[in-house]
Amino acid sequence: MQRPLILAGLLMAVATIAVAAERPPNIVIVYVDDLGYADLECFGSPSADTPHLDRMAAQGRKFTSFYVAQAVCSASRAALLTGCYPNRIGIQGALGPAAANGINSDEITIAELLKGRGYATAIYGKWHLGHHPQFLPTRHGFDDYFGLPYSNDMWPKHPTAKFPDLPLIEDEKTIELNPDQSKLTTWYTERAVKFIEANKQRPFFLYVPHAMPHVPLFVSEKHAGKSERGLYGDVIREIDWSVGQILQTLTKLSLDENTLVIFTSDNGPWLSYGTHGGSARPFREGKGTAWEGGVRVPCVMRWPGKIQANSECSELAATIDVLPTIAKLVGAELPARKIDGLDISSLLLTDSAKTPHEVYWYYWADGLHAIRSGKWKLHFPHNYVHVDLPGENGLPGKLSQPKTELALYDLENDIGELDNVSVQNPEVVAKLTAFAEVARDDLGDALTKRVGKNLRPAGRLPQVDGANKK
Ligand code: MG
Repeated sequence: MQRPLILAGLLMAVATIAVAAERPPNIVIVYVDDLGYADLECFGSPSADTPHLDRMAAQGRKFTSFYVAQAVCSASRAALLTGCYPNRIGIQGALGPAAANGINSDEITIAELLKGRGYATAIYGKWHLGHHPQFLPTRHGFDDYFGLPYSNDMWPKHPTAKFPDLPLIEDEKTIELNPDQSKLTTWYTERAVKFIEANKQRPFFLYVPHAMPHVPLFVSEKHAGKSERGLYGDVIREIDWSVGQILQTLTKLSLDENTLVIFTSDNGPWLSYGTHGGSARPFREGKGTAWEGGVRVPCVMRWPGKIQANSECSELAATIDVLPTIAKLVGAELPARKIDGLDISSLLLTDSAKTPHEVYWYYWADGLHAIRSGKWKLHFPHNYVHVDLPGENGLPGKLSQPKTELALYDLENDIGELDNVSVQNPEVVAKLTAFAEVARDDLGDALTKRVGKNLRPAGRLPQVDGANKK
């Protein structure tokens, strides 16, 4: 009578092993707002405000040539979540409370892709892909949503603009107006930890797009006054604490080796705000530009047992690559419609892989500002935002809009984009200009009056008596 029992036990053990082997990895993405390249100690900050992120880097891989698709909030998030250059899917700039548009329901987000593979999905933080119900996270693959629909400065206390009350939303319901922003990072973190605990037995996708360190800066009492860098440093410390809480939870639940954690920023620092903005040193300029300070962001990925500890990758990679890479790692189908990102799983999992991008496009809302191939970056003539005088105490500074002419930079030897070598390298200029024609043909370029062939519209509210504004 023992044999059937033993056999049943054996079968159960085999089944358990098979399920474990089949279980795809959990995915956690922490996407902070306006954090500069040099704001983490492991990326060169002189301030010791990021012990948990530095430890995460020591346990994983730093990506030192990692790009967002446009150095501004909505466009950057659209690219991360869909794997597309944001202009391809009609999301440009930063959507405000008056916006009648948002992410099109035909686009496939990472959350939808993973939900199709049986994942539990949640977002705790800033959405910024449309605030009307049809655009909210719950309509785009997320089971659970708690956070702000757009930027935390789009509220009645904005120093120079007029905004309505700022809603805090749970799923699709506004639960509070103008919430106490010093609590946001804590609230998002508590929800993130609870979500991991509740879903420890099944695959999950957790997306934590913090409101901070976007101005106005707020920090909870427990982190206030702790940084030598002042309020901005305190806010960074609280974000670092938050990452520490998430990692600690994964470790406690023995989920480390089955969880890929990605930490990065939506764009470079908002330099106009002086000490309330971050640092992108040694890069040029910051948020709102196609210079490296705007689009190159710190990125750390951690997956013990899969990603080599304490390693670094300097190959070109970008937020548009996150969706196709996750699809590869979890065995999901790519969206049927065209996306721009490429699978960079070999950059995560091996040491000698090369970037799959022969060329990378730096689009801004008015067109193609620059293009990169290998070490070369070519800027096309365009105006960009420059800070003449940074503001103080959270007030914006004085800006101008200088114009760059055609300029070629060697990023390997001139990371600050200071020495225009276009005259000395006409063949490189010709090659990158030809690449740019492909981009313009595909996605257009208002600066050269080109119309793209492959643009898709954003989602849009139905017109109500012509009352909807952009
Ligand atoms: Mg931002």
